[in-house]
Amino acid sequence: MAFKTLEQINLRGQRVFIRCDFNVPLDAAGRIADDTRIRASIPGIRHALAQGARVMLASHLGRPGEGALTPADSLAPVARRVGELLDREVPLIGDWLARPFDVAPGQVVMLENCRANVGEKANSRELALRMAGLCDVYVNDAFGTAHRAEATTEALARVAPVACAGPLMASELNALGRALARPARPLAAIVGGSKVSTKLSVLSSLASQVELLVVGGGMANTFLLAAGQKVGKSLCEPDMIETAAQVTATLSARGAELFMPIDVVTATEFSERAIPAIKTLAEVEPDDLILDFGPRSMQALVERLAPCKTIVWNGPLGVFEIEQFSYGTRTLATAIAGSQAFSIAGGGDTVAAINRFDVAKDIDYVSTAGGAFLEFLEGKMLPAVKALEDRAA
Ligand code: ADP
Ligand code: MG
Repeated sequence: MAFKTLEQINLRGQRVFIRCDFNVPLDAAGRIADDTRIRASIPGIRHALAQGARVMLASHLGRPGEGALTPADSLAPVARRVGELLDREVPLIGDWLARPFDVAPGQVVMLENCRANVGEKANSRELALRMAGLCDVYVNDAFGTAHRAEATTEALARVAPVACAGPLMASELNALGRALARPARPLAAIVGGSKVSTKLSVLSSLASQVELLVVGGGMANTFLLAAGQKVGKSLCEPDMIETAAQVTATLSARGAELFMPIDVVTATEFSERAIPAIKTLAEVEPDDLILDFGPRSMQALVERLAPCKTIVWNGPLGVFEIEQFSYGTRTLATAIAGSQAFSIAGGGDTVAAINRFDVAKDIDYVSTAGGAFLEFLEGKMLPAVKALEDRAA
């Protein structure tokens, strides 16, 4: 890869600033609801500590106003969780740009929410220079934030004495590169979720790369509508029909396949109590909601995925949060986990589905990132990665 990695740098006694992605979901009581991102950051931190570095951890959490940190935006619960995982005390440093602090070799501290610093969101070079003064080595291990150019992700990478990628960042880019830069073919992509409008550029980009594109979830309804099918009162976006038709045309011009459901699971209400019905597309009534793929669709899809050598997945096939409409997503998750293909999956709800169906260990790479994962799929250059590459050039 075209950037320096943490393992290549002598860290003994160095002040090492690690930008992590600790932006974890918190419940109403302020407790960490899912610590996947924290656990994913531990290997890089352990490595730096084992090398005798003086380690500072930085991250954003939520969306605090700059210059106005409230207790709800504090990284205190994250510092405690990192401490538990490392089995040591991780002091939280507030006001870290204003007051000097000391970190001993082999010690680690947590710097309070970096988005509270004025200039963070604006990618301020002035702010980055002040942060650069605190460190000898800057490490970006926050792939989940790599699509945003902010002071701790982009500007600091350009002005720190040394800048490198941490192991999580490197492995995310490795896996994604393997799936998309030179994929083993046939390459299949499954894009589901709620809306075409939020994943428009992903769909267009994938349509020109894959052999098989599966559209699922709410956006399948828009594609069905574009193909002249009735979708009742399902979630769909009539103003996206033209876009769906373009994606379909791109695929057929390349001889690639668009997979759409042939049967669906419907209900007349979107709720836990809804009574599901399996219907062919022709049987969908005006007051029906399409909420999942049906069993014949899933059988056909599993057969179509079997010969694929690379599978990329973002977005559930149905409303998997409700048991009656979880069949499609569950069957897909199980098929991907059982397949010989190199498989990669990402997206907030997709990862929730993968955890719910307990298949994470059998998917080759589950990305911890949402937005950055999608932007990578779109073929966009991630600004934080670009900054690291420029430093290495
Ligand atoms: P991700 O976070 O993995 O990128 P999205 O946020 O795009 O995925 O979409 C996930 C949501 O889409 C889920 O909450 C799911 O319930 C919803 N969804 C899936 N299929 C349908 C459907 N047919 N109708 C309405 N909502 C759907
Ligand atoms: Mg989502």
